[in-house]
Amino acid sequence: MKYFTLNNDNVMPMDGIGVFLLSPQEAEKSVFSALKDGVRLIDTANAYMNEKAVGRAMKESDVAREEIFLVTKLWPTVYEEEDAVERTLERLGTDYVDLMFLHQPAGNWRAAYRTLEREYKAGRIRAIGLSNFPEKLVREILQTAEIKPQMVQVEAHPYFPQTELKKLLAENGMGLMAWYPLGHGDKNLIDEPVFTRLAEKYGKTNAQIILRWHIQEGNVVFPGSRNPEHIRANFDIFDFELAEEEMKEIAKLDKNIRYYNATPEDIQKYASMELDFDSQE
Ligand code: NAD
Repeated sequence: MKYFTLNNDNVMPMDGIGVFLLSPQEAEKSVFSALKDGVRLIDTANAYMNEKAVGRAMKESDVAREEIFLVTKLWPTVYEEEDAVERTLERLGTDYVDLMFLHQPAGNWRAAYRTLEREYKAGRIRAIGLSNFPEKLVREILQTAEIKPQMVQVEAHPYFPQTELKKLLAENGMGLMAWYPLGHGDKNLIDEPVFTRLAEKYGKTNAQIILRWHIQEGNVVFPGSRNPEHIRANFDIFDFELAEEEMKEIAKLDKNIRYYNATPEDIQKYASMELDFDSQE
């Protein structure tokens, strides 16, 4: 495993599992099997409606809480609620999370950022993240925040490597968690000839080559999967290294293609979706 050191000196694993679009039953099974296989980074969110299942899987696994790096995200409809963090922790069955994101730059996110700073000082969240925030708003927060954010989470993969944003992050000791690291499973990306050639060379799969590229780019990854074999394979990327020339060749795949193309208006609308988080199984 490789680790990323946050700008507050906390350390996080660079490879984990994400549970977006997984039902509570699927999330519980995937997180349990991932923890049993040695995965120690878990990414969920209020809006995934599976935080309780993630909490159950952590307990059932018998892996000590302090060995797990748990990430979740506040949804905009609770940004102004005083107990939003506390209720999230209750659902997860834990008294702290290692990293908490504001999920979307919508609603009263400035108030929510202050809540996260307060919770950070109280020790209930150990790092602060911005999910889907554009560069302009990341800059605003860097200028105004008392506690600098540690991470951003945005779409990133070889077709959309986030080169500009990464310069800003590097200047501020911030990290990038890549969502859709495998292009949401897009065959065009996964089957790019350069990945097939490198997969043969290193005795790995194309997906493993892409994930290894992310790690060497300094990105934290947490690919989604319901398939235990994929979960294990996505974690088995630390016994080889891509050469500098090979990294350069992959860099040529930058096509400025995003899979998720929402307008700010779409995001505002989507982010106002009311969900009853406590009703989940
Ligand atoms: P991904 O790029 O990880 O792709 C997942 C797809 O690839 C699935 O269809 C899966 O079957 C396939 N796959 C997984 N491992 C494979 C392997 N070894 N070989 C071949 N195919 C494989 O996209 P994702 O799962 O949608 O996103 C990853 C995570 O990102 C999510 O679980 C979620 O936690 C996070 N996410 C966050 C946001 C956000 O707004 N912050 C948005 C979307 C996703």
